[in-house]
Amino acid sequence: MTTYKKADTIDFTKARLVSTYNELTQHLKDSDDIISRLTRRLQTTLDIKHIINMFVEEVGKLISFDQFEYNCETVGSYITSEKRAAHSCNYKLKLQNENLGEVSLTRSKKFKEEELAILERLMSTLVYPLKNALMYKHALDAALQDSLTSCGNKRALDIALTREAELSRRHNHPLSIITVDIDHFKNINDQHGHAAGDGILKQLVECMINSARKSDLCFRSGGEEFIVLLNKTTEVGARIIAERLRQSVNKTRFVHGDKIIPLTISLGTATFKNNEDLDSLLERSDKALYEAKNSGRNRVVSAELSGSLNRISDNKDQQSA
Ligand code: GH3
Ligand code: MG
Ligand code: MG
Repeated sequence: MTTYKKADTIDFTKARLVSTYNELTQHLKDSDDIISRLTRRLQTTLDIKHIINMFVEEVGKLISFDQFEYNCETVGSYITSEKRAAHSCNYKLKLQNENLGEVSLTRSKKFKEEELAILERLMSTLVYPLKNALMYKHALDAALQDSLTSCGNKRALDIALTREAELSRRHNHPLSIITVDIDHFKNINDQHGHAAGDGILKQLVECMINSARKSDLCFRSGGEEFIVLLNKTTEVGARIIAERLRQSVNKTRFVHGDKIIPLTISLGTATFKNNEDLDSLLERSDKALYEAKNSGRNRVVSAELSGSLNRISDNKDQQSA
C-alpha cells in the first residue's frame, strides 16, 4: 500500500470547514448542488467501491485531476489511473479517532486554495457513508470468519466453493478440494485440556496456510475439520499439496506452554467433475478422508485413485516419512 510522507489530517469530529464558505468564489457556491446530490447518492449504498466511485464522479465535476487514489488499511486501495502527476493533495480521513483511510488527488497544475476548500466540503459528505460502509464490511468479514482460528468458516466455504465451481465450469479449469481432520484430537483435549486443543487448532491453521500456495483457501468446516480449496488444480496436484500439508504437520512442533504436542492429520482429496453437484464433491472427499482414517491415519487418500493405488502410494509415504 502506498503511504504518503505528508498528508493533512481532517478530523471530521471537529470539522470547521463551513466557516470559510462565505469568502469563497462563485465556483464554491456552485458546489452546493453537487454536494446535496452526492449526499443523496452516498446514502444509497454500503459498498465501499461504489461509494468511492460516486465520490470520484462528483469531485470530477468541480475539480480536474489526473489520478484519484483512496487507500485504507482494511480494504486496500482504489486508484483511478496509473498516471501520477507532479502536484498532489493528500488527506487522512479521521472520525472519532477512527482512521477511515487516505485520499489523494494528483495533477500537473497546482491545486488552488478554493479547489481544496471545495474538496474538503465534499469529503465532509463522504466520511459518514464511508464509516458506515467500513463497519458493514467488518461485520460481513466477521460473519465469514472462524473466531478461533481466523480462517474462513463454513458459510465462507459454501460461498467460495459455489464461486469456484462456477469459474471451473465456465473456464474449464480443474478444481480440487482437500478435507483435513486431526488424528486422535480427543486424546489431545483429554490429556492436555481444551485450551491446549484450541491452541493446537490455531497453530494447525498457521502451519497449513504456510505450507499451501497463496491461491489455496483454507476453511474450518467443523470442530477439528478443515477444507482446503484448490483452484486450477488437478487430482495429481491436489494429492501433491495434500501430501505436503501432511508432512509439514508431521514435522511441526506444536506447543502448549512448555509442552510439545505431537500431531498428525489425515486427508482426503477429490476433484470436481463438471456434471456433479457440490454435495457430491464434498461427500467424495469425506469418503476419501474416512478411508485414510481406516487405513491407519496420518495419510492422504484421493477419491479419484482406486483403493489399491492409494494404498501403494501410502506405503511409499510411510516408508519415506
Ligand atoms: P479421529 O482420529 O478418528 O479423527 O479421532 P478424533 O479424536 O480426532 O475424533 P473425534 O471426532 O472422536 O473427536 C473430535 C474431538 O475434537 C472432540 C471434540 O471435543 C474436539 N473439538 C472439536 N472442536 C473443538 C474446539 O473448538 N476446540 C477443542 N479444543 N476441541 C474441539
Ligand atoms: Mg479427528
Ligand atoms: Mg472429526
